[in-house]
Amino acid sequence: MSNATQLIHSIPVDPLTGSISVPIYQTSTFVQEAPGVNKGYDYARSNNPTRATLETVIAQLEKGSVGIAFGSGLAAIDAVVKLLKAGDEILAVDDIYGGAFRLFTHIYEKFGIKVNYVDTTDAGNVFDAITPHTRLIWLETPTNPTLKVSDIEAIAKIAKANSCLLCVDNTFASPALQQPLTLGADLVIHSATKYLGGHSDLIAGLVVAKEQELGEKIKFIQNASGAILAPFDSWLVIRGIETLHLRVQQHCRNAQAVAEWLQTHPAIDQVFYPGLPTHLNHAIAKKQSKGFGGIVSFTLKNDTEAAATALVTSTHYFKLAESLGGVKSLLCHPAQMTHKSIPAEKRRAAGVADSLVRLSVGLEEVADLIADLDQAFEKVKQSEKINASTISV
Ligand SMILES: *Cc1c(COP(=O)(O)O)cnc(C)c1O
Repeated sequence: MSNATQLIHSIPVDPLTGSISVPIYQTSTFVQEAPGVNKGYDYARSNNPTRATLETVIAQLEKGSVGIAFGSGLAAIDAVVKLLKAGDEILAVDDIYGGAFRLFTHIYEKFGIKVNYVDTTDAGNVFDAITPHTRLIWLETPTNPTLKVSDIEAIAKIAKANSCLLCVDNTFASPALQQPLTLGADLVIHSATKYLGGHSDLIAGLVVAKEQELGEKIKFIQNASGAILAPFDSWLVIRGIETLHLRVQQHCRNAQAVAEWLQTHPAIDQVFYPGLPTHLNHAIAKKQSKGFGGIVSFTLKNDTEAAATALVTSTHYFKLAESLGGVKSLLCHPAQMTHKSIPAEKRRAAGVADSLVRLSVGLEEVADLIADLDQAFEKVKQSEKINASTISV
């Protein structure tokens, strides 16, 4: 059975009514026959049938034992960190999602959890940075917004040899392209807000554990801390997942074409996309994933915020917004948006240049997307000419 067939039929038909769409159980509690005698559900924070369906579907998609659905990607990350205790250390990818950095630094450091950031694109750096207190290795691959790729299998071996858990934030790749649990990771998290939901219409997070026992621990944390996903939003994620394979294939095709076109444009300095042979870890990306995703970043020869601002305000189809992974193409300027809270020097050192622009390539016709970028570059060039002539006058 192909992946797409398996996925579509992992979403069950309702056994009670035959409803082909998963029912939304909008309820807080479940009536019991006698104290403790129920149909598997007692209170909707602990469990809800709609959420449970999503949790089963994502566990199957990621080839894990247990799936757990949260109110946001950050709530999913938060639940994983709660496996640790004071004195434990996290070893994390240096180009980490800004929200995860904020959670680790401003919430968990004061509870005595230390985080060391390393460049995980070389697995040797991970080996060198492990201390006797490291309990959790945190990877994102590809990363945001510079699309760095790390070798999941090599790092999983290092984690195992040092009795650490490996958790991979698989948001950018999605399980349609990359399944970290099959490469040795213990946990996968998702911002389902992005490709899994796929329509820019919800906020949701998921955790999948490879082993039942670890999954039960996260499930305990979910019930104890309470950051569950609501029934309607669970249904929306299921509905998004139904077309995941189809959408992701098209995102990849469009992004590859856009990245190749950008590389030929005279205004461009560098293009970051794992599908380009010039990408630092193109070979690893090829080995561990079925495709290279829908996110493309680039820097301009005129490496200024002003040039990037002019560009991101000149497109028609690419809408200026944070987030990614939806049907409509988006673009953003990390220096002024997602990475604004990071001091400029630190941000530049992490590879997020002043002119870096991130594209979330959507599902439009790719020729229209390229034409849109082309006219935006042209507009910027003309206005730079006008500015230059007024300055010289
Ligand atoms: C968006 C995102 C998150 C956070 O998810 P939310 O759903 O916004 O809480 C985590 N990791 C990555 C890679 C993301 O892109």
